[in-house]
Amino acid sequence: MNRNEIIEYLKTPNCDELFTAADKVRNEYMGNEVYIRGIIEFSNFCCRNCFYCGLRTDNNKTERYRMTPQEIINIVETIYSKGIRTVVLQSGDDFGYSRSDICNIISLIKNKFDIAITLSIGERKNDDYKAFRDAGADRYLIKFETSNRSLYEKLHPRQDFNRRLEILEILDSLGYQVGTGFMVGLPGETIEDIANNIILSKNIMPDMIGIGPFIPQKETPLGHCSNGSVINTLKAIALLRINLKYSHIPATTALASLDKNGLVKGLKCGANVIMPDFTPDTEKNKYRIYDNKQRITFDFAKDAISKADRSLSLSRGDSLKKKEAIYED
Ligand code: SAH
Repeated sequence: MNRNEIIEYLKTPNCDELFTAADKVRNEYMGNEVYIRGIIEFSNFCCRNCFYCGLRTDNNKTERYRMTPQEIINIVETIYSKGIRTVVLQSGDDFGYSRSDICNIISLIKNKFDIAITLSIGERKNDDYKAFRDAGADRYLIKFETSNRSLYEKLHPRQDFNRRLEILEILDSLGYQVGTGFMVGLPGETIEDIANNIILSKNIMPDMIGIGPFIPQKETPLGHCSNGSVINTLKAIALLRINLKYSHIPATTALASLDKNGLVKGLKCGANVIMPDFTPDTEKNKYRIYDNKQRITFDFAKDAISKADRSLSLSRGDSLKKKEAIYED
């Protein structure tokens, strides 16, 4: 699909045909299974100041927490005991954990459990990424957030769009399965930007691509803005599925936060992953990247999977991207 076709689809009010086509591609290339990734939001400290995110350093209304390795291991134990074989460790960009602290957490988990580890801890030094990989991390999730360079730079003070893209390449060269993604409906974004986000995603050829609508958080500079559109998010999921046949695509928490059937709708237009969260209640309420976040429990995820008439897979759900390369040859 070229850029103009993508824009056409994004502008068309009737999307049934697009969703049906995406669902068919998903079934053919990814099968009927929905993979489960258990998330632990282990720290809400952050040194960045992203305009949209409630964890931003200037937000002094949030009480900050940091879990100990033992607290994290205990939650991994719960996740593992339910049969889930991927854990996502997510936090703000928190340098309160040194390179060796993170390596230590990874090795503790790997020594005890046969489980894939995805890190989602933001921008670090290249040597950190290498050390985390050597310690046993399997995957890394870092979104480019928007392909519009000037919007990116406006929303991320003192951060550089080129560095984001460079990190994605470095992670790939280190042998991580790489996840990226973007938000839909950031203030100032156009339909053309969404199309460019889809094209950039296609060029990156990630193992996983996660997208969700922008949702305001009241303690941020964008707290008064309106949220991104659910329908545009669903269209973007469908277009990603058609263009990136073998990438894992989650039905995200942000989508479920704006629409009570968001997970089911996402699964019906291309998504094949759900990421229930296992952060304990006390910390959960403090991990407020946006307001009115829907709690995705494992039961909530299972219910969405059965409503979408799909089957649950607890396996690691590794990347199928290599197959895509073969397919394209
Ligand atoms: N510090 C890590 C993890 C950030 S939170 C990192 O920067 O990668 C994970 C994701 O939440 C972000 O990548 C962003 O896409 C999403 N997010 C943050 N604020 C949001 C908001 N207000 N609305 C919707 N999604 C948001």
